[in-house]
Amino acid sequence: MASIKGNIELAHGSRIGVVGGGPAGSFFSFYALEYARRFDLDIHLDIFEPKDFTKVGAGGCNHCGGIISESLVQHLATDGIVIPSEIIQRGINTYTMHTEHGSRVIRSPSDEHRIASVFRGCGPRGCLDVNQRGFDNYLLGLCSDRGAEVIHEKVASLERAGDQVRVSTSKSEDREYDLVVGAVGLNKKGLELFKSVCPAYSLPVTTRTYISEFFMKPEEIQDNFGDSMHVFLLDIPHITFGALIPKENYVTLVLLGKDIDKKVVKNFITSKEVRSCFPKDFPMERAMTCTCYPYVNVKQGNHPFADRVVLIGDSGSSKLYKNGIGAAFLTGKAAASTAIFEGVGEADFKSFYEPICKDLDRDNQVGKLIFWVTRLIQKSPVLKRGLLDRLAKEQGDEQSMLRLSSVLWDTFTGSAGYRDILKRFVYPKQVAGLIWSVIGSNLSVLKSKNYEKQKAGPSL
Ligand SMILES: Cc1cc2nc3c(=O)[nH]c(=O)nc-3n(C[C@H](O)[C@H](O)[C@H](O)COP(=O)(O)OP(=O)(O)OC[C@H]3O[C@@H](n4cnc5c(N)ncnc54)[C@H](O)[C@@H]3O)c2cc1C
Repeated sequence: MASIKGNIELAHGSRIGVVGGGPAGSFFSFYALEYARRFDLDIHLDIFEPKDFTKVGAGGCNHCGGIISESLVQHLATDGIVIPSEIIQRGINTYTMHTEHGSRVIRSPSDEHRIASVFRGCGPRGCLDVNQRGFDNYLLGLCSDRGAEVIHEKVASLERAGDQVRVSTSKSEDREYDLVVGAVGLNKKGLELFKSVCPAYSLPVTTRTYISEFFMKPEEIQDNFGDSMHVFLLDIPHITFGALIPKENYVTLVLLGKDIDKKVVKNFITSKEVRSCFPKDFPMERAMTCTCYPYVNVKQGNHPFADRVVLIGDSGSSKLYKNGIGAAFLTGKAAASTAIFEGVGEADFKSFYEPICKDLDRDNQVGKLIFWVTRLIQKSPVLKRGLLDRLAKEQGDEQSMLRLSSVLWDTFTGSAGYRDILKRFVYPKQVAGLIWSVIGSNLSVLKSKNYEKQKAGPSL
């Protein structure tokens, strides 16, 4: 309905159709229903989701490393959503950074800095443990509890129908909505559907990544990985970031970078540093039970809204490489508050929703700089030695403020914004300490090399 202000607003009996029941679709639905309840607004909300998140393997999974950042855990807790323990595969309280020049275990900068690892679906292909519970299913359940209707169908087309948007699937009758929310992740066909109802929208730019699950005995995981996320700063072409994330009886391998293919994966898993994380005779390739090459967002879509249409999560704006679920939370919640409290016209989304997307975009620009520096470090033995030396000093000092450790913790876990990370990284005392470590650690390597040469005597 058009309001007195001239905006397009939802009213009693309005219908919302959410296309996609991943985290973005669920967060939007949860908050839209919650705000409508508080506003005494009687709305109907349908979520279209073809996947069955209670199934194991690809059919029930939205491929992801499954790290829930502590900032998201805290945001959710503030709003009364406490992730149940049966969803959490493992609480992560340290990370271990591996380079060709050694490793460092880095403890969480504070006791509150804890992250959780989860499965998005019900477990990898071949998983027989019926007790596994997935994160996406849990979120969707919260929405159903609040009155959302989940329609297990794939949306096939969208079109304008007078003042409404018509949603069609191949299985049931068309439905019309006062607002349609695009939360289809990076599914290209799903995103293309929105071009017909949101003509100014341009699709996000993506790149291919890699995930696989190693099946292991829980005691082997505890002995070899502990409650630590293992990250690798190795000079392997195409890889910007590699991590092994321990779960209950699986270890998830995540590779981010450019043009990742089988050869790049093989180079990574056969590297000495990765191999040494696993038991000696562990059959690496045979134990990889579930493998996929999902896309990740490297540049957000433009203008993800129109009258009665808004795109959220990966389909709209995400966080570069990290904490995509956190970005789905931010954009889903912002779109829900705009729709319920402000209106569902293009102007409303521009005033109240677009600033959130722009802010994520600005932060991602700084993120690109941070990952450029990370790549420099990956390629430079001199810098890697300095970094390891500085971390060892910090972690060994009880009084230390753990500045570098917390910067790296937030970079690897995605728990803080990139601008915040950069600000903390360029703190003068910290930069000076790092430079000192780079010089000191490399001088001692040089000295020991010279000593070895002298000991070996003059060559004939
Ligand atoms: C390798 C990798 C590792 C990652 N690791 C992490 C991590 O550890 N932590 C983190 O926070 N983020 C991580 N992310 C990012 C995270 O997975 C995404 O940002 C997040 O899933 C986005 O949520 P979403 O709801 O927008 O999209 P999705 O999770 O992709 O959900 C989209 C949903 O839409 C549905 N859909 C698609 N088309 C249609 C249609 N036509 N009709 C109806 N439904 C449809 C799909 O079935 C799907 O359920 C990772 C990403 C990658 C690629």
